[in-house]
Amino acid sequence: MDKKIYAFDFDGTLVRNCFPNIGTPISSVINLAINLKEKGHYIILNTMREGRYLDEALIFCKKMGLEFDAVNDNLPHMKKFYKNNPRKIFANYYIDDHNLFIEEINRLLLLDDFEKGDV
Ligand SMILES: [Mg+2]
Repeated sequence: MDKKIYAFDFDGTLVRNCFPNIGTPISSVINLAINLKEKGHYIILNTMREGRYLDEALIFCKKMGLEFDAVNDNLPHMKKFYKNNPRKIFANYYIDDHNLFIEEINRLLLLDDFEKGDV
């Protein structure tokens, strides 16, 4: 099997955004992460949370059955392969409530409001 790397955001993705509190779980995304991990893929928590806010998120995730292969960090074998650890987390897929897909960007470019920065 070709193992893929999935980077999951926390606030607004695994839980409803309620920062700095922990929002209610978004079960479909949590279950997706659990299923991917069970199938042998890598999952990374890719969040801006730090310190106690990160600790609280990790405790929450563990309670939900989520155990990440890395947290705000690249996977060890990727660091070894690239001989560095850039600030951007490498993943094959990014699951984040702020993602934009190329198709959406192309659509937004057609909107006048986007040109004005109102979108
Ligand atoms: Mg988010």
